[in-house]
Amino acid sequence: KSRNQKDVEVAYFEPETDEKIQRELEIVNQLTYGLQNDEFTIHLQPKVNLITAEIEGFEALARWYSPVLGPISPAEFIPIAEHTGKISQLDNVILKKVLKFQNERKTKGLKIVPISVNISPVHFYRESFVEDFISYVNKYEISPEFIKIEVTESVELFDYQKAKEILSELRKFGYESSIDDFGVGFSSLSYLQQLPFSEIKIDRSFINGIEDNAMYAVVQTIVQLASNLKMHAVAEGIETLEQYQLLQKMGCRTGQGYYFHKPMAINEAERLLDTIK
Ligand code: C2E
Ligand code: MG
Ligand code: MG
Ligand code: MG
Repeated sequence: KSRNQKDVEVAYFEPETDEKIQRELEIVNQLTYGLQNDEFTIHLQPKVNLITAEIEGFEALARWYSPVLGPISPAEFIPIAEHTGKISQLDNVILKKVLKFQNERKTKGLKIVPISVNISPVHFYRESFVEDFISYVNKYEISPEFIKIEVTESVELFDYQKAKEILSELRKFGYESSIDDFGVGFSSLSYLQQLPFSEIKIDRSFINGIEDNAMYAVVQTIVQLASNLKMHAVAEGIETLEQYQLLQKMGCRTGQGYYFHKPMAINEAERLLDTIK
C-alpha cells in the first residue's frame, strides 16, 4: 500500500480545515468592517402570552447582510465575534438600535412594549458591562422595564459569584434578566435557585419534541421549577398548534416561535404594534 494512515488523514482533513479557516478569516475581516459601516440590523420576534394571545414584548435578533459575503446567520458570526473580542461592540450596536427604536416610538407617543436583547456571556462578564449598559439606556431615556437582557448559560464562563453580583446589580436598577436556551447548557439547579433571573427560556430542542410524553414531562418540570422559583417561563421555538396547546395545558405563560411570528423587520414590527391597544 502506498498510502499510509497519515496520508489519508491529510487528504481528508486539510482541504476542509483550510476552507473553514478561510471562511472564518473572511468573516473576521468583514465583521470589523461591517461594524464600522453599520451593516447590522435587527429583527424583532414577538413574545406571545399563551393564555390571551397578546404580545408581551419582542426579542431583538442581530441580522447581517455583508455586501461582500452575503447574508450570514448569527449562528455563524456570533461565535466568531466572541472569539475575536468583537462581541461587546456587536451587542452594543444591537442594543443601541433597540433603544433608538424605543425612544422614537416613545417620543411619538406610540405604544411601546419591552424588548429583550441578547448579551453574550463573554460580554456579560466584562468588568464594565453593567455600567455601560445602564448608561446607554439612560442616554436614550428608556425606563428599565422596557429593556430586558437574555444571557445564555455558558459552561466555560459560568461564574456563580460574578453572575449573582451582575444580576443583582441589574435588578437593583430595575432591569430583568432571562436565562436563555435553558436546559441544554450548564444548568446546575442549585445555582439557578439563587441567581436573580426573572425569566427562564426553555430551549427550542425541548419544545420541538414536546408531543412525546417523556419530553412533555421534562418541559412540565421546567415550567414548575420556574414557578417555584418565582420566575417566568417562556417556551422558545413553538412551531405547531399542538405544541402551543400542550404548553397552554401545562400553564406555561409565554411563548415564541414560527407558529405565532417569525422574527420580522422593524417596520413590520411597528405595523404589528400599531394594531394593538
Ligand atoms: P436565541 O437568543 O435563543 O434566539 C432564538 C433563535 O431561534 C433565533 O435564531 C430565532 O430566529 C430562532 N427561532 C425563533 N422561533 C423559532 C422557531 O419556531 N423555529 C426555529 N427553528 N427557530 C426559531 P437566530 O436569529 O438565528 O439567532 C441565533 C442565536 O444567535 C440566538 O439564539 C442568540 O443566541 C444569538 N444572537 C442573535 N442576535 C444576537 C445579539 O445581538 N447578540 C448576541 N450576543 N447573540 C445574538
Ligand atoms: Mg435569546
Ligand atoms: Mg434561546
Ligand atoms: Mg441563544
